[in-house]
Amino acid sequence: MPGRFDLSVEDLSGILGDEPAYRARQVWRSLYQGREPEEMTDLPLALRLRLADELVAGLRPVTTSVNADGDTTKWLWALADGARVETVLMAYPSGRVTVCVSTQAGCAMACSFCATGQAGFERQLTAGEIVEQVVRSGRASATGRVSNVVFMGMGEPLANYGAMWAAIERLHGDVGLSARHLTVSTVGIVPGILRLAQERLPVNLAVSLHAADDELRDSLVPINRRYPLAAVIEACQAWVASRNRRLSFEWALIDGVNDRPSDASQLAALARPLAAHVNLIPLNPTPGYLTRGTPPLGVRAFRDRLVAAGVNATVRRNRGTDIAAACGQLAAVDLLVGPGNQIVGQPPPAGSALTE
Ligand code: SAH
Repeated sequence: MPGRFDLSVEDLSGILGDEPAYRARQVWRSLYQGREPEEMTDLPLALRLRLADELVAGLRPVTTSVNADGDTTKWLWALADGARVETVLMAYPSGRVTVCVSTQAGCAMACSFCATGQAGFERQLTAGEIVEQVVRSGRASATGRVSNVVFMGMGEPLANYGAMWAAIERLHGDVGLSARHLTVSTVGIVPGILRLAQERLPVNLAVSLHAADDELRDSLVPINRRYPLAAVIEACQAWVASRNRRLSFEWALIDGVNDRPSDASQLAALARPLAAHVNLIPLNPTPGYLTRGTPPLGVRAFRDRLVAAGVNATVRRNRGTDIAAACGQLAAVDLLVGPGNQIVGQPPPAGSALTE
């Protein structure tokens, strides 16, 4: 039985049987607004109870963790077949609420410094499993909704293109998010970037660059051997040229590896002609990569060099490192609990995987 967000309107009609024809759309709207069948008080009680039984959830929460600052929540979910993924919800003082979704269980890209890459690939997520992460996060957020979605959780979105794009269409059309509030992040899958540039919804694109020469990038981001920098930059040019779409580069600052003055000037030479915004992320610790992140003074110096070279650059605040929810730390394994960390909910007893 597919999860409730993997059902089409026709599937819903089938489940509703002899109910009036308008019911399928009615139930659909309620689902995407985040209501549970029990809460659909515009339906007869008997129908609500039946739907609660038949519209199965695609995600089951295993643990919910909140960071010490109380502004970041991470969920570890079990999918129907037992695969596990994580979602991170971030609230900002401005009222903005951003959810970071996973598109794959695991990842095949094998970036050396990323916990998801260190763990390897398990399976693709369905569009419904991606959408459900957003809908559930919205329910849990203080404002009752999310304002932005970033495809920056586990997995490579452009290696699961069909499901990723179907999820974007639903988030736009059914959850009601504007394309400008949706950001797809990629390790640099060139055909995927070119395809995305042709889509009708102008979502934002973030490219995880991390190195501005092929030798260094080959070692950090192995897919660079298949899609080297020149090809990635050419695809970025096509992206920017097609209806003036926004581009950013992500750069995890690694001490002594990619934080030298020469790295900053090489990066500036790539970013400036594209008017790309650079997001600097001091490297977060992961179990499989021992080099540490650039210390704060070095981060500032690197940013200042970019800015002096005419590049728009900001440092991404590291949220949720205490609950292993920060960039590159999602591994869908039981948590290492740090000091000040608050864990809400417990892992299920061994052997209680979902059976559907
Ligand atoms: N696969 C996509 C989506 C993941 S986004 C992509 O690579 O863009 C996650 C972002 O966090 C990427 O920019 C990734 O390179 C970055 N990242 C991975 N490991 C990190 C770490 N240990 N510290 C900081 N950033 C990291």
